[in-house]
Amino acid sequence: SSSEDEGEEYLFKIVIVGDSAVGKSNLLSRYARNEFNMHSKATIGVEFQTQSLEFDGKEVKAQIWDTAGQERFRAVTSAYYRGAFGALVVYDISRRSTFDSIPRWLDELKTHSDTTVARMLVGNKCDLESIRDVSVDEGKSLAESEGLFFMETSALDSTNVKKAFEIVIREIYNNVS
Ligand code: GDP
Ligand code: MG
Repeated sequence: SSSEDEGEEYLFKIVIVGDSAVGKSNLLSRYARNEFNMHSKATIGVEFQTQSLEFDGKEVKAQIWDTAGQERFRAVTSAYYRGAFGALVVYDISRRSTFDSIPRWLDELKTHSDTTVARMLVGNKCDLESIRDVSVDEGKSLAESEGLFFMETSALDSTNVKKAFEIVIREIYNNVS
């Protein structure tokens, strides 16, 4: 009866994956709460954060999942991926080994998803230009060859964080609406 009942609503699950300490938890806390933690330990307790956006006058809720540090033991469970429509696949531009792990994360994502997943390759910590270990071009070309969006971000100084999440959310919305 109320006008709320008439509008369509969307709820999208998005997961963040990548090696330990690439900045997954800080990307989420920067986006959802505008917070950054220099000494963050493995996330405890928080499973996901929800952000509301509006596209074409429709409410879109993004439920963004963060690991609880299981990636350290390569033990991210299938429940984590279940029902995800989007993913941020993150490496640290100052640590090449985290970039080398990306194909493994993409495989894992593919194995566990039963639908089209909007995927963004994220090179985080772009504030660390002086100790850069992976070039922008390498990130770009990996993303191109795998059919992913690409963005370098900094959870520390906020560069492109909102953009990265919202491109994924917009892509999911475009896929389903
Ligand atoms: P996670 O294990 O992938 O969740 O990584 P965290 O979010 O816990 O971050 C690991 C470490 O990297 C912490 O010390 C963060 O403060 C730091 N960190 C995260 N994002 C950035 C960033 O954009 N720039 C810099 N310089 N440090 C970051
Ligand atoms: Mg974390």
